[in-house]
Amino acid sequence: MPTDRKISGKKNIALVAHDNKKKDLIEWAVHNKNVLSQHQLVATGTTGTMLEAELQLPVRKLFSGPLGGDQQVGALIAEGKLDFIVFFWDPMEAQPHDSDVKALLRLAVAWNILMACNRTTADFILTSFLMNEDYIVSIPDYSGYLKRRLPS
Ligand code: PGA
Repeated sequence: MPTDRKISGKKNIALVAHDNKKKDLIEWAVHNKNVLSQHQLVATGTTGTMLEAELQLPVRKLFSGPLGGDQQVGALIAEGKLDFIVFFWDPMEAQPHDSDVKALLRLAVAWNILMACNRTTADFILTSFLMNEDYIVSIPDYSGYLKRRLPS
């Protein structure tokens, strides 16, 4: 199993925001439209529809988060098709799809991808010179896990 993955200067970025955080994400995205326009954007359904309208940029839209969109983002991470996730989740309100949210955050860590869950982190990442460079993401070695002995 590969233990690293090259990501290019044109990055695949996922954008997701819970309802109380959508306004913040849209504001951030509009503020950073020039940078975001240099990358490929994907988003959960409602977030994506709002972003496309505000940014006038193409955004690939998945299902709405609670209807499977978060899981689709997670699948993109596991398939090595996502480089950076901006996920403004709401720390003050339980979500019907909390288990999906947790799974998504877990996969982002498991596959060592860039993840910003608030505006400050998103600002620092977006202004990194590495945003426009190739970069080697090192993937933890899960071969021991894959070859584990199962109880007979
Ligand atoms: P939404 O999903 O963009 O379809 O609202 C976001 C979420 O995961 O809650």
